[in-house]
Amino acid sequence: MANSLTSVPYPSNEPIKSYAPGSVEKKEVLSTYKNLYNTSIEIKMRIGNKDVKSDNKASIYPPHDNKHKIGFYYRSDKKHIEQAIKSALESREKWCKMPWESRAAIFLKAADLVAGPFRAKINAATMLAQSKTIFQAEIDAACELIDFLRFNVQYMQEIYTNQPNNSPGIWNKISYRPLEGFVYAVSPFNFTAIAGNLPASAAMMGNVVVWKPSDYQIYSAKILMDIFREAGLPDGVINMVFGDPEMITNTILENSNFSGIHFTGSTKVFKDIWKKIGNNIDYYKTYPRIVGETGGKDFIIAHPSAKPAEVATAITRGAFEFQGQKCSAASRVYLPKSMSEKVISHLKSDLNSISMGSPEDFKNFVTAVIHKDAYDRLVKVIEKIKKDTDAEIILGGGYDDSKGYFIEPTVVITTNPKYDTMERELFGPLVTVYIYPDELWGETLKLIDQTSEYALTGAVYSQDRYALEDAVNILENCAGNFYINDKPTGAVVGQQPFGGARGSGTNDKAGSSINLLRWVSPRLIKETFIPASNYRYPFLG
Ligand code: NAD
Repeated sequence: MANSLTSVPYPSNEPIKSYAPGSVEKKEVLSTYKNLYNTSIEIKMRIGNKDVKSDNKASIYPPHDNKHKIGFYYRSDKKHIEQAIKSALESREKWCKMPWESRAAIFLKAADLVAGPFRAKINAATMLAQSKTIFQAEIDAACELIDFLRFNVQYMQEIYTNQPNNSPGIWNKISYRPLEGFVYAVSPFNFTAIAGNLPASAAMMGNVVVWKPSDYQIYSAKILMDIFREAGLPDGVINMVFGDPEMITNTILENSNFSGIHFTGSTKVFKDIWKKIGNNIDYYKTYPRIVGETGGKDFIIAHPSAKPAEVATAITRGAFEFQGQKCSAASRVYLPKSMSEKVISHLKSDLNSISMGSPEDFKNFVTAVIHKDAYDRLVKVIEKIKKDTDAEIILGGGYDDSKGYFIEPTVVITTNPKYDTMERELFGPLVTVYIYPDELWGETLKLIDQTSEYALTGAVYSQDRYALEDAVNILENCAGNFYINDKPTGAVVGQQPFGGARGSGTNDKAGSSINLLRWVSPRLIKETFIPASNYRYPFLG
């Protein structure tokens, strides 16, 4: 709109619905779930203004019900990826010239669609195809996604408002241009909100995008795309393709117009992509932005002054919600000898009260892990622990894939602080505990700093302020998100911007202006009202 300086509606966090027995939202989400469960979906790629099929189909099964087919999707050939790039580039000129308030309106409308008419559907799809409990679906697919969209619009406005100083006779302006070319968004299976945010944050800043969701999140990805379209996102701005990740990535990275990657997933995949970008650097028109949030080996350390029930609750929630498949999930715990028995006894009673099964049954706290590879990987680890002499399973350790990929919440104790499961990201419901002598508090903090390649999240529990100061200082580089007397999961957009360093990523803090700044290439314009007309400076005398 011309002749107006508008302000976007100021965001606040989306309230989490309760889904308590008898609630309207519970009835609605369960009836939507049943409906999706009983109908077969056909998911096409979205390239430009076309829904695209291919000859290569793949079936979709719920992880907790792995013989019940709920639909299928089409996988791309190289030509589809080339079309997606072409369509993105063709849409670029119109999209990046669209007034930013209009882009804001599209994504604000998308947030309202998620909050209202699409809430039950996006939650039910996330429950069904990613096996999240209703609470985990609600905080991810509904609330976090809505928050990403609304807060990022506010951050976009703040970025544009940030302008340089002027001096007499001179006016300086910064135009926050989108990147020249297209952005590649690659998203993981575990968060519907991240899948929506990776393409949307770049598009919001005026970029065009080719988006490749994970093979295990395609069901809710399709609903995200429907929401963006209903919100008014023009064709070709976000192009959604499925299929062989290596072929797709290689095709994208060979294109001279590739201008940035917005990635979330495992560390190894991200490092491989970074190497490929390095090898292709001579072909690109511009230095690509590389933004990646990757793996974690997130810790909880308790000081002897901590309260055992609080530490045990942090472990139960931090390690086992969504089966430990959060990048922020606690997977290594350090307990002082003096309180370890009390914490473990609380944990035992917690885990004995937990039931596991389909997310359709709201009594279940734990559901299935995402796919067969994850299940097999975890079974292998559990069987190895059973044989090893320096580790022991004290709770759980059971598994069963006859109906779905179910792994019991498992607690391991090790006498070796560098034991495999203290260092390696397993991405499942398995937590390893190391018991340290109370008097070695400072040494144990240093040990945490030297264990594992990651630095994503971590938590310290203590009632002693000196001990908390030790932890904050010694663990400075161990976590991009550090929690005092709270579990290491559950970051909220607008409150705890999220991201880690070391092997955990580029720490560009999803859901903050730090992240959005990666998707712009500022152009400074200096205007002088009365230009100089004589080259001589006064000092020349
Ligand atoms: P993944 O690395 O297997 O897959 C992530 C994405 O990369 C998917 O779209 C996948 O298809 C693609 N991919 C896989 N192999 C590829 C290849 N060779 N070349 C190009 N692309 C490829 O991860 P996942 O199993 O979907 O998700 C779990 C991982 O994501 C964990 O390591 C977790 O810690 C991480 N994660 C991190 C954050 C964070 O914010 N730090 C958030 C969520 C998940």
